Amino acid sequence: MIVGITGGIGSGKSTVATIFKQLGIAVYDTDSRAKQLMQENEALKNSLQKVLQKTIINADGSLNRALIASLIFNNTTLLQKVNALVHPAVAEDFTEWYKRQSSPYVLKESALIFETNTQHLCAAVILVKAPLEVRVKRVMKRNGLSKEAVLERMNNQWPQEKKETLANFSIENGGEVSLIKQVVKLHQELLKLGG
Ligand code: ATP
Repeated sequence: MIVGITGGIGSGKSTVATIFKQLGIAVYDTDSRAKQLMQENEALKNSLQKVLQKTIINADGSLNRALIASLIFNNTTLLQKVNALVHPAVAEDFTEWYKRQSSPYVLKESALIFETNTQHLCAAVILVKAPLEVRVKRVMKRNGLSKEAVLERMNNQWPQEKKETLANFSIENGGEVSLIKQVVKLHQELLKLGG
């Protein structure tokens, strides 16, 4: 069974996923895996270069991520073309990974499950929630960014309220309710759902 875990930037998806890992659940980190594939998959790199029509492969073979970011920034058409190349590569990688797992269910961690309309690939989706001001403070601290820069990143994601209406389960990570207790309870429910 595939269970999605999502939440806006700074909500604490990775933190929550780490607790599930401690309970023996395999976690696929879609966002970091996508970054890794873009660096390692030669066919993907060449296709990206073709679509972006710029030298995005450095002399040492690595990918110039900063250049890609600047090219797709504010260019929806190019962004969609890049996504059309990256998403299938990640989907294939996930399928291969999933076949090798033996945990009772797996977690697919991604910031953009609803934005990319991929919730139907999951039996259920967990939303990790935290108040906006808490999320902003966390990301400012973690990434050394200004408040404006964090808010700009958040603007590329759907608001938490919109995701709440679509999620099957939610976890409160505002710092007031015990995270471990919530995860253990949800884990029990998911075990029942999977069985
Ligand atoms: P992103 O989408 O940016 O990768 P994320 O949703 O995966 O973020 P995390 O990386 O888990 O979020 O958490 C963001 C930051 O907030 C991290 O520095 C993490 O240590 C911190 N954090 C997460 N949960 C809590 C918490 N309950 N109390 C204090 N700090 C927290």
